[in-house]
Amino acid sequence: MAASMGKAFSETEGMNKQSGRPVKPCRACMDFKSFAKAQGVKLPPGLSMEKIETKRECPLDKDELGRNTWSFLHTTAAYYPDEPTTTQQSDMNQFIQLFSKFYPCDFCAADLREDLKTHPPDTSSRSNLQQWMCKMHNIVNVKLGKPKFDCSKVEERWKDGWKD
Ligand code: FAD
Repeated sequence: MAASMGKAFSETEGMNKQSGRPVKPCRACMDFKSFAKAQGVKLPPGLSMEKIETKRECPLDKDELGRNTWSFLHTTAAYYPDEPTTTQQSDMNQFIQLFSKFYPCDFCAADLREDLKTHPPDTSSRSNLQQWMCKMHNIVNVKLGKPKFDCSKVEERWKDGWKD
């Protein structure tokens, strides 16, 4: 995925540094702090963004959306059939393609669509789908400057739980 990070947006200029196009603040494409800043929200003395973030029950920002979505995707892969039928393989492939068209963070979705061209989903078995999902997540991790996840641990992380 081309490095599309929330930080690619400059809230002060209101421009997308990658495309040079003006940015309309979009909650699902920005972290909460940047979104509030872009909206010109001024906090009363004594109230911090951090305090608000811990108490709020609000629409998801980019990072919450990402965490929840990865949880769903990895868990879905963990419960995918070991030996899927041809129809199940095709349905899962379609699901991933359609997902990439509707994921609410638009630049994340655009990058994902690009990546799917070079890394088509491997829906041939549960294990292969889990490994494919892990690789896709690692592509994003690397672009965001985060460490790669050890894909030999997906079963522990998303199905069986960590060994002691
Ligand atoms: P997350 O990256 O959300 O990970 C959640 C948990 O998954 C981790 O705590 C870890 O236990 C586990 N994990 C981590 N890596 C792997 C892996 N490879 N395999 C299995 N498990 C793993 N954000 C952007 O700023 N720019 C983007 O372009 C962008 N694209 C995205 C594309 C998609 C399809 C999705 C679902 C999200 C995208 N995000 C993007 C959001 C981003 O990936 C993170 O979800 C967000 O930054 C929050 O990160 P986090 O550190 O809380 O953990």
